[in-house]
Amino acid sequence: MKDKREYVKRMKPESLMMSYGYKPEWSEGSVKSPIFQTSTFTFKTAEQGKAHFELAYGKRTLGPDEEPGLVYTRINNPDIEILEDRLCLWDGAEACAAFASGMAAISTTLMEVLQPGDLVAFCEPLYGGTEHFLREFLPKMKIESVSFLPGQTIDEVREVIKRSGKADKLALLYFESPANPTNGLVDIDMVVQLGKEFSTKDRKVLTAIDNTFLGPIFQHPLKHGIDLVIYSATKYIGGHSDVIAGATLGSAEMIHRVKALRSMLGTMVGAHTGWLLMRSLETLKPRMMLQCENAKKIAEWLSHHPKVRKVYYPGLLKPGDPQYEIYQRQCDAPGAMISFDIVGGEREAFRFLNSMKLIKLAVSLGSTESLAEHPFSMTHCGVDDHVKRHTGLTESLVRVSIGVEDPEDLIWDIDQALKYVEMAGETKVEAAASEGVK
Ligand SMILES: *Cc1c(COP(=O)(O)O)cnc(C)c1O
Repeated sequence: MKDKREYVKRMKPESLMMSYGYKPEWSEGSVKSPIFQTSTFTFKTAEQGKAHFELAYGKRTLGPDEEPGLVYTRINNPDIEILEDRLCLWDGAEACAAFASGMAAISTTLMEVLQPGDLVAFCEPLYGGTEHFLREFLPKMKIESVSFLPGQTIDEVREVIKRSGKADKLALLYFESPANPTNGLVDIDMVVQLGKEFSTKDRKVLTAIDNTFLGPIFQHPLKHGIDLVIYSATKYIGGHSDVIAGATLGSAEMIHRVKALRSMLGTMVGAHTGWLLMRSLETLKPRMMLQCENAKKIAEWLSHHPKVRKVYYPGLLKPGDPQYEIYQRQCDAPGAMISFDIVGGEREAFRFLNSMKLIKLAVSLGSTESLAEHPFSMTHCGVDDHVKRHTGLTESLVRVSIGVEDPEDLIWDIDQALKYVEMAGETKVEAAASEGVK
């Protein structure tokens, strides 16, 4: 249901998030779209039902002014459609498919675009579930992968692919940027360039990015020529730590294929979650802007703290650093994910995490509340040692997702928790006493 109203073309996404793709006359003048909590939809006539099914099964293509009719919620539902139309606006995408989770988006998309014998080249570390899917599940489908590292040059990545001996089978380049948890940037233009180089007349190498960390507000990879943009909508898009969802965006043709497999697998988002995400989208930009402003202040403050050895945050990059050049080309703002090394090791990092009061100790990110975790032992416990060494992922690293709280209050909390780190040389009795601080 693409919104064809004239004024829409001149509006920014944030102005359209409350109304785009929905007409109040569809539901008794209701300003908000209702939750279409239904599994199935009635046909006006048997002829209409037949026409809808012909489309759903690809027996004919959509007419120029035709919209696919509603049949059954595994195939489509207004709350899912309106959500998808709105998500398209931020990334300038032709089409979007919304999913029950980020992992549902990733697995469904990869299964649709890959086939037995294919090779995937990916940048590690990836989100744990994604890496597991690539390394453990896809080989069962006879799909192999090779990996490269953030910061590697185009020549080095090209070499990695060639050395695999299967460069002619390369089907997909897959990456995350900024990389989790150390915010290393992967050059989007480099990946697009490699995709072109390895493509042949009858074989296009696709490129896909998991844009969860900066998108859809601060990074727009489709505009750089990336084919597929994927999200865990559980994070910034949902933004309230209360839903699990995902999305894939790209050309109408690609998303049509992805949606066909989604209908078969049943990995679509539910109507209720779709509706909640529409509510989240109304405040997406102000939330991410505020989170980013908070993060800039906190990263700057951390970079001067004597108990902090190194802060990993794109906002602290300096001209002259190759990472800074990449940042300038592809990011509109540094986002709200900060990692930092505490002076010491696991013991000091744990002491810090156990002493926070306002900030909660939990994985996940992008929500209104600030969350902190220990990547080495938690989100990245399965990552290979060589990747850990290369990316600076050590026992002293702490990752914080900055929320919308008052930045002074967040700094106060981090400051008081860092004081417990200073006591790292004390006796067991004192240590036990401070364990109670939570
Ligand atoms: C959380 C996350 C995922 C997985 O998303 P779910 O919604 O939990 O399935 C994938 N990629 C990134 C970068 C993530 O942070």
